[in-house]
Amino acid sequence: MHELSIATSIVESVTESAAAYPHARILEVRLRIGTLASVVEDSLQFCWTIVTEDTPLAGSRLVVRTLPIIVHCEVCGSDSELAGVQSFHCLRCGQITADFRQGRELEIESIEIEEPDDAGPISAPPEEVEEAL
Ligand SMILES: [Zn+2]
Repeated sequence: MHELSIATSIVESVTESAAAYPHARILEVRLRIGTLASVVEDSLQFCWTIVTEDTPLAGSRLVVRTLPIIVHCEVCGSDSELAGVQSFHCLRCGQITADFRQGRELEIESIEIEEPDDAGPISAPPEEVEEAL
């Protein structure tokens, strides 16, 4: 299952990022996922629950932000945001284009960590998880 390997890869990546805070608990992981990555969010959420079990991420929230596909048109130079994956046309002049400027992303946007004796949540820097694709 596509989503299972993605969830596994994200958990590994977050665990690595959080290694500097050994007693910390991960509260929330935010992802940016492009439409072309073809990730089914329900399925990813389901896999998340399974994969995070017995890790510092157990019980954490997974928040997914879906990014639309944006193509660039060589003919008129404009960028179009596409409604779906059925037609890759420039919305301005109708030219067929496959010059994707956005839509393939699969990245960790932010991680929220809570340290036991700390004043509040801290944020770890985002990290790419391209190996999941
Ligand atoms: Zn065009």
